[in-house]
Amino acid sequence: VVTVEDALAVVLRESLPLPAEEVALADALQRVLAEDVHADADLPPFDRAAMDGYALRAEDVALAPARLSVVGGVRAGEWPAMTVGPHQAVRIMTGAPVPGGANAVQPVETTRTLADGLVEIAGAVAPGANVAPRGCEVRRGDVVLPRGRRLDPAALAVLASVGCVRPRVGRRPRVAVLVTGDEVVDAASTPAPAQIRNSNGPAVAAQLRLAGAEVATLGLAPDRREALAAALARGFDADVLVVSGGVSAGDYDLVEPVLLEAGASFFFTRVAIKPGAPLVFGRRGATLVFGLPGNPVSAQVTSELFVRPCLLRLQGALPPLRPRATVELLAPVGNRSGRTSHAPALVRAREGRLLARPLRSLGSGDLVAHARANALVVMEAGRSHAAAGETAPALLLDSFLEDDGEPP
Ligand code: AMP
Ligand code: MG
Repeated sequence: VVTVEDALAVVLRESLPLPAEEVALADALQRVLAEDVHADADLPPFDRAAMDGYALRAEDVALAPARLSVVGGVRAGEWPAMTVGPHQAVRIMTGAPVPGGANAVQPVETTRTLADGLVEIAGAVAPGANVAPRGCEVRRGDVVLPRGRRLDPAALAVLASVGCVRPRVGRRPRVAVLVTGDEVVDAASTPAPAQIRNSNGPAVAAQLRLAGAEVATLGLAPDRREALAAALARGFDADVLVVSGGVSAGDYDLVEPVLLEAGASFFFTRVAIKPGAPLVFGRRGATLVFGLPGNPVSAQVTSELFVRPCLLRLQGALPPLRPRATVELLAPVGNRSGRTSHAPALVRAREGRLLARPLRSLGSGDLVAHARANALVVMEAGRSHAAAGETAPALLLDSFLEDDGEPP
């Protein structure tokens, strides 16, 4: 049995970045940069007006109000032909280059147009005000995005602004998902007595997609050696094979022996985690293999904790882990398992505090309770009880970023 930390370290050690490829900017969302991206020019590329108003020399309006003669106008996208001399001003629009000679822009709101090409500037303005000098944000050659950055909308804006329209990104891992279990039927069918619908397939495939994988589902396999061996073999050309179910101690939990016969070797076959102890991780040839416990919450938690970092690391993401927050417990949480446990909770941010309401769950089969959670409260193996008011680390799940507006 390995600890959660040791298991994760092994997973990350084995998950070496896949080769890079170029993609179009429009397809780059959530891909991971394989190299640093540099600015191809200064940003802004010219002294840029930050307001609509008048470009002028600050010293000319130090004793406001002051009258200046308007010697022209410059709009965004236009290169100014004129320069600004003493007691002159140029009408300028936001985003336009500031003409030579001017050192500030006075917003139009503090000016008044007079007759005969004159403008009255009602207030003084500091030198440099409302002008973003060329290169003040970024210098040509600066690293604007580092290798390992997962591309979000803000990063796409940066790529576009430096003209990096075909970024080099880590290849997406091809992941095959096989669901096992004699009792498991497709969600579209009505289960016979003693059967249940396949919920792990859709959940795990979705988690893997959110982590950037290209997922191929291999369907359902029964708990029989030959059929299982044939189904598993269809996953051996994937970068990662994820199997649901059949890895615990039951008479028909055959995934491990069948994988061994197929030439796989295992780094670990049990982890000191709750839920999800019978987690299997190994390799067969170039394919990394995860055997996830079939219990729905166990499958989702182990997929989140171990498969997700694997997939992000294969894409070259740095770092591939989700942040942990310290939360205040609104009710006690117990952990008599002697393993690191993950209790479903609803965490809400209220007045600068993260308040965690532990959710009633009947355990690793209770996928409905799990779906109400937006976080998992982590109880270390040695911590058997946490009282209301104590703090604990929590893994914030994607749903944490939506606030339901309810009181904590
Ligand atoms: P196993 O790990 O195969 O022993 O399965 C543990 C528990 O999870 C059993 O109650 C199974 O019926 C259930 N289970 C296994 N696979 C799935 C699945 N794909 N969807 C929902 N529940 C499952
Ligand atoms: Mg099973």
